[in-house]
Amino acid sequence: MVLDIEYLGQRGAIGAFLIETDGGAAIVDPGPASALSGLRARLAEQGLGVADLEAVLLTHIHLDHAGATGTLVRENPRLRVYVHERGAPHLVDPTRLLASAGRLYGDQMQRLWGEVLPVPRDNLHTLAGGEEVRLGTRVLETAYTPGHAVHHVSYLDAGEGVAFVGDTGGLRLDNARVVLPLTPPPDFDLEAWRQSLAWFAVWRPERLVVTHFGFADDVPWHLAQLEEGLEDWVARVRASLAREATDEARARAFADDVAAELAGRLSADEVARYVAGAGLEACWAGIARWVRKQQGG
Ligand SMILES: [Zn+2]
Repeated sequence: MVLDIEYLGQRGAIGAFLIETDGGAAIVDPGPASALSGLRARLAEQGLGVADLEAVLLTHIHLDHAGATGTLVRENPRLRVYVHERGAPHLVDPTRLLASAGRLYGDQMQRLWGEVLPVPRDNLHTLAGGEEVRLGTRVLETAYTPGHAVHHVSYLDAGEGVAFVGDTGGLRLDNARVVLPLTPPPDFDLEAWRQSLAWFAVWRPERLVVTHFGFADDVPWHLAQLEEGLEDWVARVRASLAREATDEARARAFADDVAAELAGRLSADEVARYVAGAGLEACWAGIARWVRKQQGG
């Protein structure tokens, strides 16, 4: 069940996912600490509290997905936390994660993300991809799915036909017919992302769950849209880098172009939600960083 944690009071921006099993309840990507009141409210509507949870399954450690984890573990020290092995050290000691987020968000850190507590090492179950996660008699498959982040994993609940694909599944709000990539710095990698999409195709889920936001069906269409979008954006960023301009101007022009094209396909309200959810200027920067690295610059 998708839990709308109403991040910063916005509906349909960040979705945590509640999995209920005979072995107790688990949450995929609880979201940031700043939205914990929303998470608690949605759990309470299901007759659950944090103390009832057995596990947290993280797709990746970005603050909008995993920021609340340390607070949840402090409240419920029994919680098992699943995370990719490359993300684990940054949960145990979030200093570097917070420093890099701080460079981006400055004095807005507390408002956006709340308090980010470390996660004790003993609670962590690290994944490389390929392991099974057991929740009672329910078994989830895992896969290493980089492209958006180098430490991104995805989970398949084959019995339910659902794959939890975090941000590697892109941005698709409430099953609308638009899928956008999410490509902020520093980890964007087109080749890695393509391979991750190939994994999702092999899994053949009936539905995806994307954090931003909710269930997404017509999976082959979704994956094709996302791959096309990735290639299109990389081509645009390459072209913008070949033009004489500042990075700031290039990023703004990219964001303006994408928003203008969305306006032809979505309502004004939806365009605003997509633009806010994507962070288009940061998407430009993430791709530009990768292109320059490819060029050895
Ligand atoms: Zn995200």
